[in-house]
Amino acid sequence: MKKIIVITGGSRGIGAATSHLAAERGYAVCVNYNHNRKAADTVVSAIERTGGQAIAVAADVSSESDVIQLFKTVDKELGIVTALVNNAGILEQQMKLEDMDASRLNRIFTTNISGYFLCAREAVRRMSTRHGGAGGAIVNVSSGASRLGSPGEYVDYAASKGAIDTMTIGLAKEVAAEGIRVNAVRPAFIYTDIHTNGGEVNRVDRIKEFVPMKRGGQAVEVAYAILWLLSDEASYSTGTFIDVTGGK
Ligand code: NAP
Repeated sequence: MKKIIVITGGSRGIGAATSHLAAERGYAVCVNYNHNRKAADTVVSAIERTGGQAIAVAADVSSESDVIQLFKTVDKELGIVTALVNNAGILEQQMKLEDMDASRLNRIFTTNISGYFLCAREAVRRMSTRHGGAGGAIVNVSSGASRLGSPGEYVDYAASKGAIDTMTIGLAKEVAAEGIRVNAVRPAFIYTDIHTNGGEVNRVDRIKEFVPMKRGGQAVEVAYAILWLLSDEASYSTGTFIDVTGGK
């Protein structure tokens, strides 16, 4: 059976590393992005150069109509999705909860929570054996922040990841008998651009001495865990988590 994967935010950081690794493992890859077309095209070109199949599709995961269109495009151009990586996530300027306004909270929660729910919905509608689908696997990219809370930095972001942990457990049980496995990875301290959005480009290097392994992580180290959870080697695992946090 053809393996077809949708990776939200597959154009940069952890998503890009996952796009490359998925292509290496034989998936046709939908590289979703929001604004940065160039980054998505770069990932697609690199995959095509090595003989793989990939498409770049713009969609804001916080928009229901964009998400519906994203999956319709995949149906048409690649085929019915067999794997979803819910990865597109945002954080904003580090601050205390007492300084956060409603518009910020809405941006964080709609992208990091509703976005994951909407993409999971579209995937389940296609994968579920109850709807005539052939099954599949979903991996949610949560965060170590769901356990650690991110005090003084972004409690809103950490709480959004807590919601994703709960969704992972609930959805996994809901669709376990319909041929779909749902798991999550919880990374932390990975070298990507996301920390710039929090206002601290060198955040990983500041924190790494408090990480038991005394170093930050690379995006591909998260991708390996994601691809394992998606693979048949994880065939009896659902509703569970892999922490990729250097022991923190
Ligand atoms: P990143 O380098 O900032 O990349 C974010 C990716 O998501 C980009 O491809 C971006 O596309 C896309 N994106 C953002 N908002 C989107 C939206 N509304 N719709 C569609 N795509 C959107 O982030 P990252 O560090 O790789 O993080 C990826 C995931 O890992 C996130 O869920 C994050 O919370 C989680 N995580 C990261 C770390 C870490 O240390 N880096 C730790 C724990 C968890 P554009 O370029 O087009 O904007």
